Amino acid sequence: MILDIPTMYFVSVITNVAMTMAVMIVALRQFIPGLSQLAWGLVANSGYYLVVGARGKIPDLLAIGLGNTLGALALALILQAVLNWRRARMAPILYFTPVVLMLVVSLILVEDRESRLILASFILCYQIALILWALHRPGNKIVGRGRMIMAITLMVGMASMAYRGMALWFGWHEVTPFQSRDSLNTLFYMINYLGMIFLAFGFVLGSVEQSAEVNRRIAREDPLTGLANRRALFEAMDRLFAIAGASGQPLSLMIIDVDHFKQVNDRFGHQVGDAVLQQVAETIKQRLRGNDIVGRIGGEEFLAVLPDTPPNGAMRVAEELRQTLAAKPVVKEGHEIEVTISIGLYCSERLTSTETTDAMIATADEALYRAKTKGRNRIELAEVSTGA
Ligand code: GH3
Ligand code: MG
Ligand code: MG
Repeated sequence: MILDIPTMYFVSVITNVAMTMAVMIVALRQFIPGLSQLAWGLVANSGYYLVVGARGKIPDLLAIGLGNTLGALALALILQAVLNWRRARMAPILYFTPVVLMLVVSLILVEDRESRLILASFILCYQIALILWALHRPGNKIVGRGRMIMAITLMVGMASMAYRGMALWFGWHEVTPFQSRDSLNTLFYMINYLGMIFLAFGFVLGSVEQSAEVNRRIAREDPLTGLANRRALFEAMDRLFAIAGASGQPLSLMIIDVDHFKQVNDRFGHQVGDAVLQQVAETIKQRLRGNDIVGRIGGEEFLAVLPDTPPNGAMRVAEELRQTLAAKPVVKEGHEIEVTISIGLYCSERLTSTETTDAMIATADEALYRAKTKGRNRIELAEVSTGA
């Protein structure tokens, strides 16, 4: 299918303006890093289509020089958008050099379409490679669909630019004039046109996915310690108890409470108190196994569930936790704070579905109360349920 080039450019300008408006509306409503650069990238891209589409009506030097530079600028701005979004850094010289290079190449080679197209193809290829790098920067675990859409689009764009550069260089294709209704021109135009739509859509979708993921985490995590909050913990417990109850496995549950924590706050201040809580949480996290679950259920109270763990195993874990914390004072703001914990332990040798979460917690709580009254810094084991 051969499309009419000037019409296509006109449609492109309209599409880009519409996308810019849509992106700006999103950017007004919520702060998403990089979104405003994306909008500017789309503006530059509209400019590219507008100027290149006006060829024949304005001097070639202007149409080619300004047009190509705007195209390269659009990619540089999109790169900046992705860098901001992914919180990555890159020396600006790396991404603005291609824009300057594009201007120079377009002006010097204004009469030599073949060399100009070859060089422009490789410059764009390099720019797309930079965006791909920024998108896939290691250390970022969130792999959303938006990011996937962007990556595929960029790879197609890069492949098409590399192909165009080589095809012209090695003479696989003849160099047709700009306005010629040739199928290769049409194909590259379509890739560019659709590519911009997919890129902008992928970016917005990816950012929204990322904020949804952050919100999901905030809703489930205790911000101070990074442990599960009450809600996430109870959900995980329901799942775990259903499995353990069905298979009759042993299970242990412990409530860990920091001793005389109010005094820590009163003597050293809240910040030091918070540091104590963080260290206690970290110690618990490090000692437990991968399928154990732990969360913060109150100010200085933590709850841990150890599936498939009989009473003697749970007792050992609790004792190690108690000793580790007692042996390592928390150092904060020049203070050295001795921290001890008391633990109420509930164990079932064979969990049955009649043992409810509330009842297990209440029993562990009673044991904890005994540990406190017996002098703290100790573990009290509630009567072991045999599941009979
Ligand atoms: P016990 O040995 O009997 O457990 O005594 P305690 O002082 O540890 O227990 P109490 O329940 O009397 O005090 C708990 C304190 O924990 C009171 C509250 O000010 C403090 N607290 C609760 N949440 C936080 C928090 O997020 N940060 C800090 N720094 N303190 C907190
Ligand atoms: Mg306490
Ligand atoms: Mg308490």
